Amino acid sequence: VIATRDHPDFKETVQSADHVLPDGIGIINAAKMMGTPLQERVSGIDTMRAMLAYAEEQGYSAYFLGAKEEANRKAVERAERRFPKLKIAGRHHGYADLDDEAFVESIAATEPDIIFVALGMMKQEQWIRDHMDRFDKGVFMGVGGSFDVLSGEAKRAPDIWIRFQLEWLCRLIKQPKRITRVMKVAQF
Ligand code: UDP
Repeated sequence: VIATRDHPDFKETVQSADHVLPDGIGIINAAKMMGTPLQERVSGIDTMRAMLAYAEEQGYSAYFLGAKEEANRKAVERAERRFPKLKIAGRHHGYADLDDEAFVESIAATEPDIIFVALGMMKQEQWIRDHMDRFDKGVFMGVGGSFDVLSGEAKRAPDIWIRFQLEWLCRLIKQPKRITRVMKVAQF
C-alpha cells in the first residue's frame, strides 16, 4: 500500500488486477479501523497451494518463474511430489534478462494455464503487466517469496506466531534486511 502511494504507476497496476489478496495483518487491522473490515487474512502462499491442488484436480498446467535457481528447482520438485498429477509447463529462476522478448516468448510457448511469478513486490506485478499480452491464456499470480518457502529454503513462521499476528516479526528476525520494509509500517 505504501509503495502504491510512492509509485502511481504501480498503484495503477495493482488496481488493474482482477484480485488483490489481503496478505498481511496490517491491512486487516487498518480496514477494521476504517470501518470497512475485510473478513480475514488471505496469504499468498496458502492461495498458491490451493491453486496447485485445484490445477492438479482440473488438469491445468503451471509455470514457475522466479527466485534463485536452487529455490526454483526445489519448489517445483516439491510441488510435483505433493501434487503428482500436476502438469508443470516449465520453470525458470528470476535472475535472467526478464524483459527479453525471446525469454518471454519461451515461457508463453509452454502455454501455461497458471503462471506463478516470484520476483518480489513491485517487480512481479510490473512483469505481469508488461508481458501478459504475449500469452493467449493464463492466470498470473505474483507470489513474492513463496518459492523460497515451498522449496524449504525459507521457513514460514510457526503457527502460534501467525495466530498472535507476529509473522512479520518472525520474518524480520530471520531477514534483518527487511527492517526498511517494517519501518514503512509506522508510516502506514
Ligand atoms: N527475486 C527474483 N529476481 C529478482 C529479485 C527477486 O527472482 O530480480 C526473488 C527472490 O529470490 C525471492 C523473491 O523474489 O525469492 C522475493 O521474495 P520476498 O520475500 O522479498 O518477496 P516480497 O516480500 O517482496 O513479496
